[in-house]
Amino acid sequence: MKMRYCKKCLQPDTRPGVVFDDECVCFACRYEESKATIDWDARRKELQEYVDYAKSEAKKRGNFYDCIVGVSGGKDSTFQAVYAKEKLGLNPLLINCMPDEITEIGRKNIDNLNRLGFDIISIRPNPIVAKKLARKSFFERGNIIAASEYCLWASAYIMAMKFNIPLIIQGENAALTLGAAKNQSTDGNAFSVMQLETIRGAKVDSFIDPENGITENDVSFYRIPTVEEMTEKGIKAIFLQYYAPEWSQVRNADFAIARGLTGRTDDLHDLGRYRRYTALDCDMQIPNQMIKYLKFGFGYATDEVCYDIREGRLSREDGKWYVNEYDGKCGQKYIDMACKYLDITESEFWEVVDKYVNRDLFKKENGKWVPKFTVGEDFES
Ligand SMILES: [Zn+2]
Repeated sequence: MKMRYCKKCLQPDTRPGVVFDDECVCFACRYEESKATIDWDARRKELQEYVDYAKSEAKKRGNFYDCIVGVSGGKDSTFQAVYAKEKLGLNPLLINCMPDEITEIGRKNIDNLNRLGFDIISIRPNPIVAKKLARKSFFERGNIIAASEYCLWASAYIMAMKFNIPLIIQGENAALTLGAAKNQSTDGNAFSVMQLETIRGAKVDSFIDPENGITENDVSFYRIPTVEEMTEKGIKAIFLQYYAPEWSQVRNADFAIARGLTGRTDDLHDLGRYRRYTALDCDMQIPNQMIKYLKFGFGYATDEVCYDIREGRLSREDGKWYVNEYDGKCGQKYIDMACKYLDITESEFWEVVDKYVNRDLFKKENGKWVPKFTVGEDFES
């Protein structure tokens, strides 16, 4: 197999759905370049049209709330909620889909957002079902949180339907920030999340497993409504990132910290990343990124480095150290947590993980998987 790196950042072309152009530059880098020439005034006007629509529709429907923001209480959702309320003058209803075994920091951050002056509805999906689905997706796909992501995405859309709220404000379009634009549109319309790899990967129907006690009703919070259903009810959905030129993961973190966001306090090597303000509400994201690294040759630190390179904080050369130092790392305590949560022994855990390791990219040395590739250099095996 071949693994190529973007010539501008350190993104490899092994990311599912990523687009590289003829000059071997990734779509996310091209989008970042294009920001200089985007007609932001035109986008601002477009955003204002959505805001006007939301306000007048809510009035017509007799709703106090004119928009929904799905929130974890993390950096991006804190930015979205405050931006919607303070800058756009909207009355958002915040929907929080709580991860199973939410972390203390996650709880704190949701409370913080609540205290900033928002109504929040927390959805707590059935933990017995959640655990069964986590085990299923771990054994069948080598991914602990794949099923829970359906719930996370679907909840805002489901609640917009139930409460008849005309606008959903999502955060970022991954096609633009990660470059995963192969099967997803790159505009501001957030109905395109139905095309996302993470949502499409498997159909919710495949979660139904009556022999294992999972019925169709058990997964109703995992099923995102269709575009047709939402359009029929006059519900629209947008990506704020497309309209707000200041959107940036690092800047959103600064913004949210200034409003009370709490980060993790671990050794950064245990987190496999070099910032403290991501994946705050769910510990399973940490071992999951390690598994992703072994599948595709990159983990979360690569994403962080790529944001830093694109936004001019780091050179491609200097970024390599961060990737080598942090990518794919995961503290033993997080592996222990994953085993406990999945109700398996550590040797069972590694047995499953080993099945998903990309052997073209990694080899085993002294019982540990080590990369055959060099970060930033095209690789062929
Ligand atoms: Zn790039």
